[in-house]
Amino acid sequence: MRSGAGLDPCACDPAASRGRRHPEAAAPTRTAFQRDRDRVIHSTAFRRLVYKTQVFLNHEGDLFRTRLTHSLEVAQLGRSIARSLRLNEDLVEAIALAHDLGHTPFGHAGQDALHECMQRCSDQGTSLDGWGFEHNLQSLRVVDELEERYPAFDGLNLSFETREGILKHCSRRNAERLEAQEPGGVAHRFLHGGSPSLEAQLCNLADEIAYNAHDIDDGVRSGLITLEQLEQVPLFDDYRRRALASHPRLTGRRLLFESIRLMLSDQVYDVIDATQRALAQAGVSSVEDVRRSRPLVTFSADMRQRSQALKTFLLRNLYRHPQVMETTGRAKQVVGDLFQAYLSDPAQLPEAHASREHLPRAVADYIAGMTDRFAIREHERLSGATLFP
Ligand code: MG
Repeated sequence: MRSGAGLDPCACDPAASRGRRHPEAAAPTRTAFQRDRDRVIHSTAFRRLVYKTQVFLNHEGDLFRTRLTHSLEVAQLGRSIARSLRLNEDLVEAIALAHDLGHTPFGHAGQDALHECMQRCSDQGTSLDGWGFEHNLQSLRVVDELEERYPAFDGLNLSFETREGILKHCSRRNAERLEAQEPGGVAHRFLHGGSPSLEAQLCNLADEIAYNAHDIDDGVRSGLITLEQLEQVPLFDDYRRRALASHPRLTGRRLLFESIRLMLSDQVYDVIDATQRALAQAGVSSVEDVRRSRPLVTFSADMRQRSQALKTFLLRNLYRHPQVMETTGRAKQVVGDLFQAYLSDPAQLPEAHASREHLPRAVADYIAGMTDRFAIREHERLSGATLFP
């Protein structure tokens, strides 16, 4: 355990924040990161997450995770770990709640379709406003530009540290463009190396822990994967055996939940231990040291390998399940058709989007903001076809 009271010396201190793009007076009762979190929760994009797909389409069942409940689970796991590591919980919460704001309807299927559409426009030179469609970059666009709430600026005007955490990945092409607009800013590390804050690193890992666990739960609930299949996954089976050792008569849903619960706790403890070791080994003692260092929030080597095996299992058996793939195909068609329809007839877009300078990007922003059900309704209106009866 690193000694001392209060925050770890490598934690982000809101009083030492690199600030907002548009200077604002400090709030009387809240830190900069608490204010960021509150702005995210009050945003329009955050409310839309409730009707956006995580793995299963929103209308397939009421109990499946949506982007909203996923984000809440990431925030919960992230805060628990942050508290133990004495990192800034508010910053972790702000990043976790905002990390998926840029996701399109229909999850990764929607994103892939929109990326293909935008890649074509970018490569043909008809979109000069960035390259392709990247959901992490889109999350940043939402908080930097697309939310319209404040009199003096576009976006939510969040602190640098929250924006840095939101931009988890970025292609080189887009990083170069961002760096030109904001030298030394959030895209700098994608061009010159380095790591984001420990709080940002933690959100990445909390995201992985959350979706591995809830996709098992949703996968079994949907009937697409079974408890018996999961016995082939060493990570899960270990916890299933432990659950049965303490409760020999446990079966069905309660056995599933208890196994997942044990797995979640153990992964949380693993991250806390492995990260404390990594911080001690790296000898870091400030946020600047962290930014110069390799990533330090980590699983142990053993847990990393077992988590990877679980991810591979979920990819093969759930995300690529024929039934999921079939829905994915229709979702891609909805997004592709919508993109073409708006591009060829911009009058179908709301006025604020139709009048923007870069039409393909305006169309991508409009589609990315849609909920699953709104995209389905718009597709029916514009194409006359019903792909999701
Ligand atoms: Mg996520």
